[in-house]
Amino acid sequence: MPPVSRQVAVSQAISSQVPGRIPFSVEFMPPRDDAAEERLWNCAEAFHDLGVSFCSITYGAGGSTQERTLRVASQLAAKPLTTLMHMTLVGHRRDELVELIETFAKEGLSNLLALRGDPPGDPNADWIPTEGGFTHAVELIELVKQTEATQHFDIGIASFPQGHYRAIDLEHDTKYTLEKLRAGAEYSITQMFFDVDDYLRLRDRLAAADPEFGTKPIIPGLMPITSIRGVRRQMELAGCSLPKPLEERLMKAAAGDEVGNAAAVREVGIEITTAMAERLISEGAPDLHFMTMNNVHATQDVLHNLGMAPAWGPDLGHDAVR
Ligand SMILES: Cc1cc2nc3c(=O)[nH]c(=O)nc-3n(C[C@H](O)[C@H](O)[C@H](O)COP(=O)(O)OP(=O)(O)OC[C@H]3O[C@@H](n4cnc5c(N)ncnc54)[C@H](O)[C@@H]3O)c2cc1C
Repeated sequence: MPPVSRQVAVSQAISSQVPGRIPFSVEFMPPRDDAAEERLWNCAEAFHDLGVSFCSITYGAGGSTQERTLRVASQLAAKPLTTLMHMTLVGHRRDELVELIETFAKEGLSNLLALRGDPPGDPNADWIPTEGGFTHAVELIELVKQTEATQHFDIGIASFPQGHYRAIDLEHDTKYTLEKLRAGAEYSITQMFFDVDDYLRLRDRLAAADPEFGTKPIIPGLMPITSIRGVRRQMELAGCSLPKPLEERLMKAAAGDEVGNAAAVREVGIEITTAMAERLISEGAPDLHFMTMNNVHATQDVLHNLGMAPAWGPDLGHDAVR
């Protein structure tokens, strides 16, 4: 008998919310040391207080970080916070993947974001599968569904508003995204993007190609902009682009001195992310997923602008958020 999960399924967490209030969720990165772990706990407490629908925790290569990730994820889940484990194929044979997912099941971590991952070191390098491992995320979904201890897992996948950077074209991107949804994924979370039209086009493409599986929830991934350098670095890693008018607004706020005018750049960045969130809400997005980099304030600023959270800061007369 598979263990009974103590976790709410993410697909349920985003579909059973208070009417009129859009849910929001957050992405955390695994802490590398004790100080980073302490910061993550503060962050998790704050988002817990703000009513986050679920938190996800990214997956990186490396033994000690992975052990810490698993321990932190189990503690987050016990909080209780609905916790979504990212998992990739990088560096794992099939038997290691089975061992890992069975460990997640034992810990009650039954929400999984099934990913391939990128070649370690250089995301643009050729993908070479680990000997005895897999090549595509769909194989991980199939493995989870075939493994007795993990059949009950609620699975999410990555989707790409501008298409995955390795996809031949958008038609192939759609085909392989649908393959994962048909294999048992319940929803997708998108790569960060800065043009809401790209998100809407992805939604239309999937729905037109398959009215049954292509209409599963697509959770938009939002990266609150706090600096030009930061957003450029993240876009480079994600293989996406910043629309010219947005870049021009940020450059105008920087007025040739990004460091000296950091506050002005941040203000415009938060305005841009808020405007995207407003449009996504009006377009019926199922949840807003914020890539937090383990910081609360930028996300809370956006939520505050949307009327979904108090403002932060002791000078604002409250201490609801640590
Ligand atoms: C929300 C989100 C979270 C992420 N979290 C992490 C993380 O925690 N850790 C991490 O390392 N990376 C993470 N990534 C990055 C992700 O691992 C990379 O973008 C990776 O390059 C693609 O992963 P995938 O799961 O989409 O792969 P796949 O679905 O395997 O697709 C990879 C490529 O192969 C193509 N393809 C897919 N199936 C087939 C098939 N059957 N035949 C031929 N071609 C196919 C696709 O079109 C695509 O070009 C995340 C991405 C997103 C959007």
